[in-house]
Amino acid sequence: MELRKTFQIEAAHRLPAVPPEHKCARLHGHSFRIEIAVEGPVDPTFGWVMDFADIKSAFRPTFEALDHRYLNDISGLENPTSENLACWIWDRLKPTLPSLTEVSVAETCTSQCCYRG
Ligand SMILES: [Zn+2]
Repeated sequence: MELRKTFQIEAAHRLPAVPPEHKCARLHGHSFRIEIAVEGPVDPTFGWVMDFADIKSAFRPTFEALDHRYLNDISGLENPTSENLACWIWDRLKPTLPSLTEVSVAETCTSQCCYRG
């Protein structure tokens, strides 16, 4: 069984590796939608895989590190593409959320990236 929980962060970034005329080279912001997926058996007593509140707690420090920040200033996110952001979140979250199976980062309604470790 899989659980998915969605979070939203507001953050600014620019992509330093693209040509200067590319629109993503300019400073801009996104309402990033971050989806965390975990997988496991349904506990027969509780009838759930895990408490959604535990996913929220596990994600809290990562949320605080990213929300209303300039992502390029964060160590490891000097080139803050959605791909690099998904990996960065995975690396921080996996130790405290071992049942993590996917981190997805959507920077717009139509552009999304999924990382499965
Ligand atoms: Zn962007």
